[in-house]
Amino acid sequence: PKRTVTVLGLGAMGSAIAQRLRDTGHDTTVWNRTAAKTRPHAEAGSRAAPTVAAAVAASDIVFVVLLDHASVREHLEPVAADLKDRTVVNLTTTTPNQARDTAAWAAEQGLTYLDGAIMAVPSMIGEPHSRLLYSGDAGAYETARTVLETLGTAEFEGADAGLASLKDMALLSAMDLMFAGYVQAIAMMRTVGATAVDTAEEVHAWLAAMLPHGRGLAEIIDGGTYDTGGQSVDFDRIGLASLIAASREQGVRADLLEPHKKLLDELAATGHGADDWLRVIERLTIH
Ligand code: NDP
Repeated sequence: PKRTVTVLGLGAMGSAIAQRLRDTGHDTTVWNRTAAKTRPHAEAGSRAAPTVAAAVAASDIVFVVLLDHASVREHLEPVAADLKDRTVVNLTTTTPNQARDTAAWAAEQGLTYLDGAIMAVPSMIGEPHSRLLYSGDAGAYETARTVLETLGTAEFEGADAGLASLKDMALLSAMDLMFAGYVQAIAMMRTVGATAVDTAEEVHAWLAAMLPHGRGLAEIIDGGTYDTGGQSVDFDRIGLASLIAASREQGVRADLLEPHKKLLDELAATGHGADDWLRVIERLTIH
C-alpha cells in the first residue's frame, strides 16, 4: 500500500512536492501558514489540515518544506508529541549545524528524523535529474525510500544529519562562484558593446573546454604535495593581477577577483610562491 504523506509548507517547492506525491497516488495532507494556499491542493484531491497538529496526525511521513531553520523549529516543537511514530523528512534548506541541531532535538524527543537537501528547482521535482540528498537516520531513509524516490533521484549521504546540507552548500558555493564569473566577464565585455548573451556563450564554450581539468586539480589536492611543477602561486599572482588591472582599465570593479589574489598573496608571503597554486586550499581552513 502507498504510504500516507503530509507536506508542511506550500511555497513554490512545497507545492511542487505535494503535487508530485498526489500524482504518484499518495494519500496527501497539506498545511500552510497562509491557509489560502491549500485550496488548489484540496481541489486536486489532497486533504487540507487547519493546524500543524492535524496535518501531522494524518500521515506516516511528514515532509517539512518551510522557509528556514527558525520556521521549522517554530512549527515542529509544539507538535513533538504528535510526531512520535512518524518519519519527519525536513527538506527545508538549512546549514549543516542547523540540520544537526534539529536532528539532536528530534532524538531527544524520540522522533525519527531525516534531513534532506534539494538539488533542483520546483519544476524539476519528479524528474530523474532532480537530485535529493538525505542524511541522518538510515532506518528512516529506508522506510521512506520509495516515497522519496518519487521526488527524483534519492541519495543517502550518511548518519551525520548535516551531510546532505553540507554537500548542498558546497555545490551551491561552486555554482555561486561560477555564475559570479559569468557576471564579471559580462561586465568587462559590455564596456565594448558586447551583449550579455554573446559573452555568456563565450564563457560557456571556454568553461566547457576547461571543466575536464577540474578532476586533475582535485587529484593534486588529494595527493597532498604541492611540488607539482604546474602552475605556481607566483605565476598565478601575476595572472590575477593582470585580470584585476584589465577589469579596472575598463572601468569595472575587480572585487569578485580580489579575494583569490589575496589568498595567493598570503601564500607568497609565507614562503609558498613556488608551490602549486592549489595550495590555496590550505589558506581556506580556519584554524
Ligand atoms: P517560498 O518562498 O515559495 O515559500 C516559503 C514557504 O515557507 C511558504 O509556504 C511560507 O508560508 C512558509 N513560511 C515562511 N516563513 C514561515 C513561518 N515563519 N512559519 C510558517 N511558514 C513559513 O519558498 P520555496 O517553497 O521555494 O522554498 C521552501 C524551501 O525549499 C526553502 O528552504 C528553500 O531554500 C528550499 N528550496 C527551494 C528551491 C527552489 O528552487 N524554490 C530549491 C531548493 C531548495 P506562507 O505561504 O504563509 O508565506
